[in-house]
Amino acid sequence: MIFILGGIALLSILSALFKWLTIAGSITAFILGVIIYHAFSWQGLTILGLFFITSTLLTKWKKDKKQDQDALHTEDKKGRSLLQVLANGGAALLAAIGHLTLSDPVWLIVFAATFATATADTWASEIGVLSKKRPFHIKEWKKVEPGLSGAISSLGTIAAALGASLIGFSFYLLYDSSITIGFCIAFSGFLGNFADTLFGAWFEQKYVCSNCKRETESHVHCGVKTIRIFGYPFFTNNLVNFSSTIIGGLIAGGLYVWIMS
Ligand SMILES: [Zn+2]
Repeated sequence: MIFILGGIALLSILSALFKWLTIAGSITAFILGVIIYHAFSWQGLTILGLFFITSTLLTKWKKDKKQDQDALHTEDKKGRSLLQVLANGGAALLAAIGHLTLSDPVWLIVFAATFATATADTWASEIGVLSKKRPFHIKEWKKVEPGLSGAISSLGTIAAALGASLIGFSFYLLYDSSITIGFCIAFSGFLGNFADTLFGAWFEQKYVCSNCKRETESHVHCGVKTIRIFGYPFFTNNLVNFSSTIIGGLIAGGLYVWIMS
């Protein structure tokens, strides 16, 4: 117990030191880790860790190239913020609290599927943005700049499927569950990620840079404040991520109840 808590604390401190997370982000991650451990034991922590470590590594991977393409949000340079941690882990936190309040195996499935969604989403964005072909925007029905929400590429879609499958397959191994349940988690994560793309296309705010005229999701570009051209002001990328992890979790919970009945 002390050993595990020390491990979570160490990883949180390292995250702040290496600027993977901001200070507030790493404190939030620590609390998230402790509650998840309390609810779902070390296996739950492993799922959180798989999401966190692969996302961090993929964000760093070919960073120079991604910066050229303007895919990075300004916050990412200082590490992921408290809100970004909650956007990806908030739904899992709700599942953990649900399980601690009203113990039921369905919470574990919901929990894993929220991380399958978050992993699919991060892998899709971080790998998809490197696609040589321009991604296709599902609402505007045309090819757009890489890195914009609401756009899909075949590379990003494959990455999403692999990310969701990593969590589904790990769940199967960690909990010695059936392959059907593992597949159900992976499938829900993939659908959750698709919901993320739909929300991104229809609701998320988009900005244009007054200097270079490029479309972006950042509030600042080329050192100047950008102009909002589309979307609802409250519908940020964080809210999109949070909503889609909830959807991924609900799909898996529904499938689980259906399979078990
Ligand atoms: Zn610009």
